Amino acid sequence: MKQGIHPEYKEATVTCACGNTFKTGSVKGDLRVEICSECHPFFTGRQKFAERGGRVEKFKKKYNMD
Ligand SMILES: [Zn+2]
Repeated sequence: MKQGIHPEYKEATVTCACGNTFKTGSVKGDLRVEICSECHPFFTGRQKFAERGGRVEKFKKKYNMD
């Protein structure tokens, strides 16, 4: 039988850059992440529409709208 293919799986505390913490399973222990479900734009809906806004401005100038 092969040994070591099932490493010990323990509870880890994940700490996000936004200050949120949550529990997960990990073989490496505690983790630090840059982004999580609490602060990720995909989950919060606070996406930046700068690019889209820029296109609108160009559209307005092209057709003299404002
Ligand atoms: Zn976060």
